[in-house]
Amino acid sequence: STQKNILAVNNIEVIYDHVILVLKGVSLVVPEGGIVALLGANGAGKSTTLKAISNLLRSERGEVTKGSIEFEGARIEAQTANELVRRGCIQVMEGRHCFGHLTVEENLLTGAFTRRDGNAAIKRDIEMVYDYFPRLRERRSSLAGYTSGGEQQMTAIGRALMSRPKMILLDEPSMGLAPQLQEEIFEIIKKLNDQEGVSFLLAEQNTNIALRYATYGYIMESGRIVMDGVAKDLRENEDVKEFYLGVG
Ligand code: ATP
Repeated sequence: STQKNILAVNNIEVIYDHVILVLKGVSLVVPEGGIVALLGANGAGKSTTLKAISNLLRSERGEVTKGSIEFEGARIEAQTANELVRRGCIQVMEGRHCFGHLTVEENLLTGAFTRRDGNAAIKRDIEMVYDYFPRLRERRSSLAGYTSGGEQQMTAIGRALMSRPKMILLDEPSMGLAPQLQEEIFEIIKKLNDQEGVSFLLAEQNTNIALRYATYGYIMESGRIVMDGVAKDLRENEDVKEFYLGVG
């Protein structure tokens, strides 16, 4: 096919604490400009997969012990998380990691830490983030810790955008948010994909919303991919309906 993959994960194994085998050979791809959903129950291994890609496992005593990961055709298993951010691949962690004692705007500024272009470009991008998230413009001077859960999720995504990523790994964007806010967040993901060309790999327990916005989905169980397909087919699949969409 002529479609290029921005990310390719090939048969990776992840072990925590030298003995706990958590990923047992996971393979997936994200096409350039795609929105790919990684689905499955709590503990299936979604977060571990994202952290293996963005190289955030080390601080949790985890390591990739087999397989390979390629970003834009180059092997990245040995790259640090910061090197990867510079290359254009960034993770937004589960639980909206913001700096609670910094303002929303200061949080966004911390997202530009890998950039070497000037302040003017960074200012422009802050405005770009506010255009995508008008709520953040209103809350720019508030301490992030005192903003709502939805606003913190927006701040976390906005902060990632400040690194000018080609690809964002997003862990549970809908977690803890009311349905309407979930929808608002996914609409913005879609818009960033359409207008900025950002590719997404999203880990989600909310299969329903993820498969409405994603182009393709992978379903994980106990450290393995057990099913994958284009989002529309997965939405109509009887097993997916029964086990993951809550309609029998
Ligand atoms: P969640 O939605 O809870 O994040 P998940 O699908 O993302 O679920 P992971 O967080 O990747 O799943 O966890 C997969 C498995 O790895 C679980 O059994 C979990 O207990 C285990 N695990 C996760 N982190 C560690 C760690 N630092 N040390 C040991 N085991 C871990």
